[in-house]
Amino acid sequence: MSKKKFKTEISQLLDLIIHSLYSHKEIFLRELVSNSSDALDKLKYLTLTDDELKKLDFDPRIDIKFDADSKTLTVSDSGIGMNADDLDANLGTIARSGTKNFLNQLSGDAKKDSNLIGQFGVGFYSCFMVADKVEVTTRKAGEDMGWKWESDGRSAYSVEEAERAVPGTTIVLYLNDNGTEYTNRWSIEQLVKKYSNHIAFPIFLEYDDSSWEGEGDDRKEVKEHKIEQINAASALWKKPKSELSEEDYNEFYKTIGHDTEDPLMHMHTRAEGTQEYTTLFYIPKKAPFDMYQADYKPGVKLYIKRVFITDDEKELMPVYLRFLRGVIDSEDLPLNVSREILQQNRVLEAIKSASTKKVLSELSKMAENNPEKYKEFVDQYNRPLKEGLYSDFANRETLLELIRYKSTEEEGWVSLAQYKERMKDDQKGIYFITGDNESTLRNSPLLEAYKKKGIEVLIMDDEIDEIVAPSIANYKEVELKAVNKSGSADDLKTEEDKVKEKDLEPVLKRIKEVLGDKVKDVKASSRLSDSPSCIVADENDPTMQMQQMLKAMGQTDMPDIVPILEINPDHAIVKKLSAASDSVFEDACFLLLEQAMLVEGQQLKEPAEFVKRLNRVMEAAV
Ligand code: ADP
Repeated sequence: MSKKKFKTEISQLLDLIIHSLYSHKEIFLRELVSNSSDALDKLKYLTLTDDELKKLDFDPRIDIKFDADSKTLTVSDSGIGMNADDLDANLGTIARSGTKNFLNQLSGDAKKDSNLIGQFGVGFYSCFMVADKVEVTTRKAGEDMGWKWESDGRSAYSVEEAERAVPGTTIVLYLNDNGTEYTNRWSIEQLVKKYSNHIAFPIFLEYDDSSWEGEGDDRKEVKEHKIEQINAASALWKKPKSELSEEDYNEFYKTIGHDTEDPLMHMHTRAEGTQEYTTLFYIPKKAPFDMYQADYKPGVKLYIKRVFITDDEKELMPVYLRFLRGVIDSEDLPLNVSREILQQNRVLEAIKSASTKKVLSELSKMAENNPEKYKEFVDQYNRPLKEGLYSDFANRETLLELIRYKSTEEEGWVSLAQYKERMKDDQKGIYFITGDNESTLRNSPLLEAYKKKGIEVLIMDDEIDEIVAPSIANYKEVELKAVNKSGSADDLKTEEDKVKEKDLEPVLKRIKEVLGDKVKDVKASSRLSDSPSCIVADENDPTMQMQQMLKAMGQTDMPDIVPILEINPDHAIVKKLSAASDSVFEDACFLLLEQAMLVEGQQLKEPAEFVKRLNRVMEAAV
């Protein structure tokens, strides 16, 4: 027998599961049953495709039994099973890097946290909420030897050889005080119905039924041993919509989505004709925790004629829709499709493309008919949709209608259609400002003239906007214009501005001489009203925010791109500037540049110099 320590993260996790999540302990059964179901799915596939395993006498089932006297609960399945290496890899380590994030994300709110548990793929360990000791006896299909894994869920586990007549896995929980309430028929039945009713395999419960026979002194208790199927065991997605209630859909979602909350929506489609397939998609209320991780777990499972094929294929649906949960079941594919074939398969491509259209059109309907619900959706998934704009050109038009932005015009989310509707008659574009801080953006001097003229500006504070917004270029023939680029203010220029610009030229020239290579150019601004200066990027240069983002992403070899400094001809400081002495003029030039950088949330290269200048000016003023 070998005794091994859990990897540190598992010990940490176990500790958390046991101490902070116990109030939601009932999910342990759902997790065990769902693991069994996965194991049955895997073996079923192999018995249909693997020559060795075709011979196997496969009776797919899950069995649950309990013993109130010895306080044990047993869940066993005739699935794929595990060998010693599998036990180490699956029950001794956590393969996905999400664990650390999991630990960080735990909120202390047991209800929320228990939702996360399943999502993080650490479901098995939830059994330590109700058990002091767990024994897993298992034999992998195609192998002769069985193994027993055993642990008290603290720091270590042991693995030793064991007997098991047929392939599969048996898990015995030695229940603690939290777990004894599950040693009766009713609570188990109720849990299975609630969470696992539509697992595609039969779940049997073994119990003793007692009844009384006879009269008076002859009266005695008769116990009868029964084995009864307690779930519906049907592939829910194959049923006609008319036979399914909202509740049926929601329960099935909870099982496959490892969620305790109802989904935001479901979409159930059956296609017949050239292609025959069924899809059932769900959108979770809360974005999956790993949505922005490279090793995210895809949520859509592929079945072929009801046989599970894979739940680890990221390309079944477009990557930007990776928050979807659900099932694709095709009637047209051969069962023994290989991975490589899957990825460039025409049948699957067609399903993917039709399903994507379907999902987007359902979202459009929701946006139109149920704005409140759509807002919930946008709060969670605006960003992946914007990724779609960048990657899915076929659906560009629809996606443009679905994305939302913040705006200077109203609270909440605004669509491009709404913006266009509100545009002034002579307005030349859809204006937007990008950056990473909403309040910095809302207070940017760049917006002053737009505010004054009552022109709406979209506030784009998601870092992805920096890339996506310029790539949109046009919405229904209206150009999207970044207000932090030099050209955008030309639209605002009046004849009067042009005269002022002319008058300011000598001063601009002098400022440029002082600032030298710190600026690309110095111009008179038509976009400022209260501030004396602002900085913008030259038309073809990346914006300051973009540069910062690229740096943060590790692009350090970028040339330093300097901004254009714009000066407000109407500002009191600027008006007095030409009369200033050389030394005051010089300080003023730098301060005009530095304050413009500061309001945009940028860091100064030489803060000490800035402070010295500021103090000189203050000294002269006080
Ligand atoms: P998840 O199921 O999300 O991957 P778990 O912690 O529940 O995470 O399980 C870890 C792994 O252990 C599973 O992915 C599977 O490979 C293996 N496993 C768990 N239960 C069984 C079982 N009943 N039969 C076969 N393998 C299992």
